[in-house]
Amino acid sequence: MASLPGVGRRTALRLVLHLLRQTDKDVEAFAMAFTRLKKEVLYCRTCHNISDTEVCPICSSPRRDHATICVVENVQDVMSIENTGQYNGVYHVLGGVISPMEGIGPKDIEIDSLIERVTKGGVEEIILALPTTMEGDTTNFYISRRLANTGLAELPKLSQIARGIAIGNQLEYTDEITLGRSIVNRTEFKG
Ligand SMILES: [Zn+2]
Repeated sequence: MASLPGVGRRTALRLVLHLLRQTDKDVEAFAMAFTRLKKEVLYCRTCHNISDTEVCPICSSPRRDHATICVVENVQDVMSIENTGQYNGVYHVLGGVISPMEGIGPKDIEIDSLIERVTKGGVEEIILALPTTMEGDTTNFYISRRLANTGLAELPKLSQIARGIAIGNQLEYTDEITLGRSIVNRTEFKG
């Protein structure tokens, strides 16, 4: 429970105490509702953002700049960046970052599909907006290498959101103004 976003220890404890007072049948129904929710959640087949349609509203919007892709770790990061109102491109949600410690390799996250999007053409810029952690850096570096290896004559510009926003190291905890500014002031990615 402690790993639920926004649910602290005390809330988790209250929830557990509440569940313990319920009948087995109620708890079972609760668990089943959760399982169903997880199964029924759709992910956009283009950017892997959470969506209730096959292609999310951002990817299907003609008002967005489809030549600019912002690469983020998770769905919350999309929400954080959307809240800044400073970004008009599209996204690519990796669903994690490379972490040898946790046994997460490049194949476990959506990197292949990102490279595929780029090789299809029309992408002019990729903005790396991953956490400023060793795992985030490793993932940035890996993506830059994969892009270089595509053999594309014209590679998209690779940039990185401005550093120094590492409050808690996670985008979702960074305030909107700072995050918005870090996107506007993004810099060229230098491995
Ligand atoms: Zn999408």
